[in-house]
Amino acid sequence: MNIHEYQAKQVLKSFGAPVAEGVAITSADEAESAARSLPGPLYVVKSQIHAGGRGKGKFKELGPDSKGGVRLSRSIEEVVANAREMLGNTLETKQTGEQGKQVNRLYIEDGADIDRELYLSLLVDRAVGKVAFVVSTEGGMDIEAVAEETPDKIINVPIAPMDGVTQDDAAKICDALELTGQARDDGMTLFPILYKAFTEKDMSLLEINPLIVMENGRLRVLDAKVSFDGNALFRHPDIKALRDETEEDAKEIEASKYDLAYVALEGDIGCMVNGAGLAMATMDIIKLYGKSPANFLDVGGGATTEKVTAAFKIITADPNVKGILVNIFGGIMRCDVIAEGVVTAVKEVGLKVPLVVRLEGTNVEKGKAILDQSGLDITSADDLDDAAQKIVKAVG
Ligand code: GDP
Ligand code: MG
Repeated sequence: MNIHEYQAKQVLKSFGAPVAEGVAITSADEAESAARSLPGPLYVVKSQIHAGGRGKGKFKELGPDSKGGVRLSRSIEEVVANAREMLGNTLETKQTGEQGKQVNRLYIEDGADIDRELYLSLLVDRAVGKVAFVVSTEGGMDIEAVAEETPDKIINVPIAPMDGVTQDDAAKICDALELTGQARDDGMTLFPILYKAFTEKDMSLLEINPLIVMENGRLRVLDAKVSFDGNALFRHPDIKALRDETEEDAKEIEASKYDLAYVALEGDIGCMVNGAGLAMATMDIIKLYGKSPANFLDVGGGATTEKVTAAFKIITADPNVKGILVNIFGGIMRCDVIAEGVVTAVKEVGLKVPLVVRLEGTNVEKGKAILDQSGLDITSADDLDDAAQKIVKAVG
């Protein structure tokens, strides 16, 4: 689960990280009083969307000369003018895709005088099985180019889980970021705080780009992007409350209500599979035969007819879907339950695209009989290859 920058900063602040004062607003009428509550004279008006690259983004409605989604403002009037221009408009950045994202919320922040922009992130490094700090002196809006052109400028500091961030680790990070004096003292305090926030809140990513050294020599978290492990949200009701459903894919929200593991993708073949491994294999084999999956969908081991029906509805509601492949291995899951779910769903929502079903395992004969007797136009397949070839051919 992702959250907005202003929320991420609140979470980090609660652990003691240095962030600027700021006020989130949803209407331009609130801009003036928000700015007045800040010390000034420099303010920053920041678009709150679940995507990065806002500074260099452009508002679609404002044409090619549009100013970005993060704007320095030197007076309260400028804050208000910027807020009016940004709210309600669609910001396109490198990360939003062509359709952009509507800006429904702004964060008005106390501006900082910047000496240096650094990069710092925390992530789960699967290669070493540890949480690692990834840092670079070359922070700011071009970190992707740094990663591509001068990867040696990005330094990885893995943290031993039993020890946490030791003095040595923190010093290593300070050295990598070339921190001295007050900024170094701030870093020695900040890095363990960030690690604590990351692990205690079950984050999967914490990216601060930039972490800045201000002209007064102090460190400040200037931007914050945080993702949480969805499987751990049940133990963080405070974090769960930060969810902004307007930023998420409507189909994924619907799927989560039924506890379905669903991820929307770009292709045109809708998939309904049980088990994440089989779902991955199904997506691969569709690719192998020349098409792309429209989604990842694992209905899980003990799916009910109701759940299967919901899954089928979500798939058919996607206008990109030109064909559907149901691939089930009945273990705990019974093939007849799947078949019943498919038939119920098709009767409810209709079937406008080809449907190929491959069933194998527990109650397979019963399942096949239900499909045969349904009178619906369903192509059955014998194995994975056969199923993938049939659906790719049917979609054409
Ligand atoms: P992003 O473009 O989505 O990553 O948004 P950021 O929050 O990182 O802001 C983009 C850029 O705006 C930063 O890299 C800074 O250069 C600049 N910026 C943001 N806040 C301030 C500030 O308080 N003072 C100054 N001088 N620049 C800022
Ligand atoms: Mg940034």
